Amino acid sequence: MATQGQTPVEEAEAVRSNFIREIIDSDLEKGTYGDKVATRFPPEPNGYLHIGHAKSICLNFGIARDYSGTCNLRFDDTNPSKESIEYVEAIKKDVQWMGFSWGERQFFASDYFEQLYQYAIQLIKMGKAYVCSLGPDEIREYRGTLTEPGKESPFRNRSVEENLDLFTRMRAGEFPDGEHVLRAKIDMAAANVIMRDPTLYRIKHVAHHRTGDAWPIYPMYDFTHCLSDAIEEITHSLCTLEFENNRELYDWVLDTLGLSPRPYQYEFARLNLTYTVLSKRRLIQLVEEGLVNGWDDPRMPTLSGLRRRGYTPEAIRTFCDKIGIAKSDNMVDYAMLDFCLREDLNDRAPRVMGVVKPLKMVITNYPEGGEEEFEFPYHPEDEAMGSRKVPFSRELYIEQDDFREDPPRKYFRLSPGREVRLRYAYYVTCEDVIKDPATGEVIEVHCTYDPKTKGGWSEDGRKVKGTLHWVSAKHAVQAEVRLYDKLFTQENPMDVPEGQDFKDVINAESLEVVPGYVEPSLASVEPGYHCQFERLGYYCADPDSTPGKPVFNRITTLRDTWARKERSQQGKKA
Ligand code: ATP
Ligand code: MG
Repeated sequence: MATQGQTPVEEAEAVRSNFIREIIDSDLEKGTYGDKVATRFPPEPNGYLHIGHAKSICLNFGIARDYSGTCNLRFDDTNPSKESIEYVEAIKKDVQWMGFSWGERQFFASDYFEQLYQYAIQLIKMGKAYVCSLGPDEIREYRGTLTEPGKESPFRNRSVEENLDLFTRMRAGEFPDGEHVLRAKIDMAAANVIMRDPTLYRIKHVAHHRTGDAWPIYPMYDFTHCLSDAIEEITHSLCTLEFENNRELYDWVLDTLGLSPRPYQYEFARLNLTYTVLSKRRLIQLVEEGLVNGWDDPRMPTLSGLRRRGYTPEAIRTFCDKIGIAKSDNMVDYAMLDFCLREDLNDRAPRVMGVVKPLKMVITNYPEGGEEEFEFPYHPEDEAMGSRKVPFSRELYIEQDDFREDPPRKYFRLSPGREVRLRYAYYVTCEDVIKDPATGEVIEVHCTYDPKTKGGWSEDGRKVKGTLHWVSAKHAVQAEVRLYDKLFTQENPMDVPEGQDFKDVINAESLEVVPGYVEPSLASVEPGYHCQFERLGYYCADPDSTPGKPVFNRITTLRDTWARKERSQQGKKA
């Protein structure tokens, strides 16, 4: 499996050489932090985690695990208007589900508000920060552009005393929102625009989900993050590439305050996945505008959505290992996640019978009212998984796709006059079909069975090419089956013409709900139960299931061999 835009060699390289681990190895060798390795995963509690965050979780917690180090879970909660306790709880649940534990090491940037405030005072006293009273528009105007230097604020040369006075009064809540900000005094002509006297604090009379009304001022990300890392004695602060330009400010704050030893920031490529968007800001829009059924909609790339759909933490961790940690952005094929899921469930998911698009089969020479039971193994290669009894009777459901009145070449399933195997049961031969008089559609297939093929093999060595799954009609349990497709119609949903956005390329057919039938053993499965519907794919019982009325989510198909054959035949003809 190659990620897009990477050759197989490059891909293998990315997996093997994780440049961050090389940096850590070198720090250990030099003794930069003694033998200490400390990382952190720093989500902002302003939405649910997505699979991009899983990459960061696996990286940070994985390093702590492999180096006998520590990894903190730190909520970066400095923007109270967008954050909530609901998100804090959801994030904790998702990190745990991914299989990682932070133990006692749960922190909140808001725990450091007092310390951060004291650091700001220190910068003011050093003449390295000032209170600026320009409005937001003016600040933007004064900042200059990528090609032109900025202009110094008229408030830049306020005395230390005046700055201390104003800043303490900002903290005391004396000014309305937007009246003043605290800015670092760096260089308005800096090539890196971020270094042109960045804002460190803003006034915001908004209650915080943890500190309540205690603070009318809140520190900015760039000031908070580096200092939180330093306070927690993080050694390697790992973030995504869009923070590359912020690194200079990260270093400036820590070095100006003279903190040592201190953490350093390293950037890696964020995960982009085909046919979806990975950004909380956009995912929130899908949820709030009702374009999906909540954060845990099984079509969402959120960890809660993936979990509900049936993706396992094992598969997601393998996926994160396989994509590796690189220094340049790329787009990973969604198919790779499905590949990891199949690899995981192939060994451990019970094989069961479910028919998602039912077609009735009547076995005309089977006794009316007769029935029998077959013992089916749960896994053909793993006896330890055990077996269960599956009832058989005169009327069954088979898959609509498994019958063609006019079979194309190399179609080996059922068609008039042809004999196939009903899995583990009997050979049957199609003798007749019943059609809906109105539509001409086949609504029943009539077959005869050969009683001498019990168990699904023939004493005379006669072979059949097709094997079908089935359920006994009178014993079958009705199930709601939810078949999912990609959430967006194009690989990169952000790549749309002017005037459109990603919501214009939502796949209207991403969810198909069908009434299916499953074998009786599945009547009352627990939500989260994983199984393979034989020949169809991997499925997971949804929390909407009730006793006697299961609801199954299709996680992914098995690769459809027929579709592949059809395609390769078309290829040959062309
Ligand atoms: P989003 O863009 O989805 O809002 P974010 O970066 O704002 O994400 P945070 O809560 O700040 O979300 O992210 C926590 C950590 O997860 C950060 O270290 C961030 O770099 C990392 N992260 C976020 N998105 C991805 C991604 N797509 N791939 C890898 N890491 C990511
Ligand atoms: Mg962020």
